[in-house]
Amino acid sequence: MTAQEIRQAFLDFFASKGHTIVPSAPIVVKNDPTLMFTNAGMNQFKDIFLGEAPAKFPRVADTQRCLRVSGKHNDLEEVGIDTYHHTMFEMLGNWSFGDYFKKEAIEWSWELLTEVYKLPKDRLYVTYFQGDEKEGLERDQEAYDLWKQFVAEDHILPGNKKDNFWEMGETGPCGPCSEIHFDGRTDEERVAVSGAQLVNADDPNVIEIWNNVFMQFNRLKDGSLQSLPAKHVDTGMGFERLVRVLQNKTSNYDTDVFMPLINFIAGKSGKVYDKEALPSGEGLGGASSSAWNEAVAMRVMADHIRAISFAIADGQLPSNNKAGYVIRRILRRAVRYQYQYLGFKEPFLNQLVPLLAEQFKGVFDELWNQKDFVQKVVLEEEVSFLRTLGLGIRKINDYILVKKTFESSPIQVLTDSSTNIISGPLAFELQDTYGFPIDLTELIAREAGLKVDMQGFEAELQKQKDRSRAATAIDTGDWILLQEEDNVEFTGYDELETVAHVVKYRKV
Ligand code: ATP
Ligand code: MG
Ligand code: MG
Ligand code: MG
Repeated sequence: MTAQEIRQAFLDFFASKGHTIVPSAPIVVKNDPTLMFTNAGMNQFKDIFLGEAPAKFPRVADTQRCLRVSGKHNDLEEVGIDTYHHTMFEMLGNWSFGDYFKKEAIEWSWELLTEVYKLPKDRLYVTYFQGDEKEGLERDQEAYDLWKQFVAEDHILPGNKKDNFWEMGETGPCGPCSEIHFDGRTDEERVAVSGAQLVNADDPNVIEIWNNVFMQFNRLKDGSLQSLPAKHVDTGMGFERLVRVLQNKTSNYDTDVFMPLINFIAGKSGKVYDKEALPSGEGLGGASSSAWNEAVAMRVMADHIRAISFAIADGQLPSNNKAGYVIRRILRRAVRYQYQYLGFKEPFLNQLVPLLAEQFKGVFDELWNQKDFVQKVVLEEEVSFLRTLGLGIRKINDYILVKKTFESSPIQVLTDSSTNIISGPLAFELQDTYGFPIDLTELIAREAGLKVDMQGFEAELQKQKDRSRAATAIDTGDWILLQEEDNVEFTGYDELETVAHVVKYRKV
């Protein structure tokens, strides 16, 4: 099955079970101080669960574009290094708002996975909440018994509060959840170690694919639990992970979700994508092979362009503060990878936008409708970062070289711990003068087996803030909204015209 067919089969299946298929909410969240980006399918239904808005339909399903790069869910550092965490991903979900509950949710998820998608049953593991005496939470016997109708007992595993009890916040709706994991190891590996031992153990081939949350309680201010009069179901399945298991791959990147992007990057860079390339020696240190660096770079770019493009299409431009800075940081990471490991010294990342837009036509048309605008913004950002990127890289590399030379020096004059640290002032200079977000400096440092003196960096940052406090009045972004009458044309990289219904911005 192609990715398109897999997505459609999910929606068709839940439509056949009486669900209304609803559109994805934007990936950018406005007017919610607790959240910058949509990080789960349930976000758009939060008010229904809190009892603050009525449900339009009792049962809905959708595919939601999500971003996990900040706050409680931040998977950025895993991206490109492991095979199944992305910045932007689609979360397939089905919901019951006070309608069906555990019985149907469990039956249907099993039916979909084993009868529609035909996944082998012995490769699936399910978990249920084991209870927590200290917290006064009961074991979810109901879920266990329901699973037992379909699943062999040794494939039903207890889970603790951290993994198997979901809470919206300190107060509000909460309840136990059941996860479904897929064991994608070879038969020989499976004989050697049982999959049950590897669920929740970070084995790259035994991965969580689906989470079914059963909201049955309301936590009150005094910490006690009240049974909800109307119980809800909230599920989330990682689409790219599902595609990976259905297409029989060992990495999400090997599927038709990512390969068109990776092939394009590989073709243009003249390098081969070696999916087997693994880090050599100690993790990601200096011992890593160039094939590994190149493979990571291609994966990271294919991943990051999705996050960047959807954020821009949904109204979040890169900028120097808040959500805008999160997007700029992701973009600069991608540009650094393409520059340093794939030899792109000129803007390139933006060329992925049309390809991506084409891929999502009919799924998330927001991108297709604004693809020219999105591409121009990415291009503009690349141009501006490339002005200083090369100099910054040279600066940090020279510094690392000096450190390494002293480290291996037989005289050992400077072998105190400061030798494997990037100093605070340098990290600050890289950010201030060369536009390296601190996490990018940390990433480059990590690749060389060094750390950044974060305390020193923060101190420099504070000094600068103190200096400029008096001087600055208002915190402005560096893209400004143009007035209707400002009819700009695209006259070069410093000016932008947007398409269709998008408001007009110009970079300042
Ligand atoms: P994991 O333990 O693998 O980090 P999670 O428990 O944080 O996943 P949930 O919050 O339960 O994930 O989200 C529901 C589903 O979304 C997961 O079962 C998984 O399939 C998918 N998912 C979660 N995070 C990511 C990500 N960063 N990239 C791709 N898919 C993801
Ligand atoms: Mg997670
Ligand atoms: Mg998990
Ligand atoms: Mg989970």
